[in-house]
Amino acid sequence: MSAETNINAVNSANSNKNETVRLFDVDSYVSEFEAKVISCAPVESGYETVLDRTAFFPEGGGQASDEGKLGAFDVLHVREENGVIYHLTKEKFEPGARAMGKVDFKERFRRMQNHTAEHILSGVIHTEYGFHNVGFHLSEKYIRADYNGALGGEDIKRIETLVNNAIVKNHPVTAWYPEKNELLSIEYRSKKEIEGRVRLVKIEDVDICACCAPHVSRTGEIGAFKVTDYMKYKGGTRIFAVAGSDAVSLFISEHEILSDIAESFSVKREEAREAVSRLSERLSRLKSENIQIRRELLKLKSSNVEYTDGNLCFFFDSSCDVESVREFLNSVLQKCGGVCAGFIGDGDSGYRYIIVSERVNLKDKCRKINDALCGKGGGSDKMICGSANAEKGSIESFFKDFEF
Ligand SMILES: [Zn+2]
Repeated sequence: MSAETNINAVNSANSNKNETVRLFDVDSYVSEFEAKVISCAPVESGYETVLDRTAFFPEGGGQASDEGKLGAFDVLHVREENGVIYHLTKEKFEPGARAMGKVDFKERFRRMQNHTAEHILSGVIHTEYGFHNVGFHLSEKYIRADYNGALGGEDIKRIETLVNNAIVKNHPVTAWYPEKNELLSIEYRSKKEIEGRVRLVKIEDVDICACCAPHVSRTGEIGAFKVTDYMKYKGGTRIFAVAGSDAVSLFISEHEILSDIAESFSVKREEAREAVSRLSERLSRLKSENIQIRRELLKLKSSNVEYTDGNLCFFFDSSCDVESVREFLNSVLQKCGGVCAGFIGDGDSGYRYIIVSERVNLKDKCRKINDALCGKGGGSDKMICGSANAEKGSIESFFKDFEF
């Protein structure tokens, strides 16, 4: 059947005579076309033009609308209502005139690659696990697809391999509007009950699914597929993935990142993971050594603190651990007649505080202290902890002057 006969077949299948002929239904590679302007009406953000036929795919099925040019003007958005396709432009078109349409095919093809990959992904998951695709969104950066069953890391790896195998096999992808009887005899996936004509998209040996969007004609054109993330979602699994040119871009950028990391460690790329792990272990070791050293220093510092009838107040930098500060405060507790307060932080984002005392019931004074420190916190009679937003100077003068 020729393309033109196909278009007529699609048109005659339309229930509404005014429906726009969908060139993308017959051939998703048509990017330039000539059409007659049927109508053009002003809307809030410009003009909506209806053509007798169009290659612009309207928003639908989780995929954004095509963009491009109509005549010399930008097509900003395309939508469909009751089979009629509306092209949004800033400029007006005269009914009866002829106009050339040009779809931004680079973006369209990227979407076709990703969209067809999602069909394979959902087909594979349905065949292998019996789970249904219950949500799909194709963004500028990734495919997001939801399934109504739990998948683990090993499942994801296996699915990814099966999808890539199906891509390499270069299966043909076809789309058609079956007659009612034919439709009843075909088993196909569908996200929802569809009213009116059902368009089926078949990927040979992999999947049949109801879908209105344009797809590539053979799976080999997808090139590659990569799951980037997955997570538990509403009792099932949400998968993020990329395909086609997006997958290639991801390989290139992640390869660069890995190369940079390997270079910074002066190791081969395949040794980078181990090098990072060694560094992380070393860092943990140094952190605990640092805590030990800091505790020794605080011990020395505590021996130099002189007795006061009032309160003691100390500041520690943000790298100091709470346990070391608590130990320090307890060790100087006997050297004051009031309370012993420690503040951890650099002041820019406030302080964490610990206050201890044996002579003052801190639980009773907690509110007063928090009010004075612009803080919040609580604890027991002998110790309270919390956060403070007051300036260092005002904290110091509060503890200097305040008699508990
Ligand atoms: Zn589709």
